Amino acid sequence: MEPEPTVEPAARVIPQRPVCAVCGEVIGVYEPLMHVVDEIPRETSIAACREHLPELTGPLWHRDCWPYP
Ligand SMILES: [Zn+2]
Repeated sequence: MEPEPTVEPAARVIPQRPVCAVCGEVIGVYEPLMHVVDEIPRETSIAACREHLPELTGPLWHRDCWPYP
């Protein structure tokens, strides 16, 4: 039997480093970010969403880069 591959917990819950749709910079785990759920913008962070990461698919923005009021 092959041994289970060792996966860092952070790598398992965050499959890729999300980048901001405006500036293209990586959004840090604890940085405030904006994303849109059902056309409603929400402010959150990757750290806050670790258990709900599928919600963070789609465009993400730094809070400071959010282009809308
Ligand atoms: Zn940005």
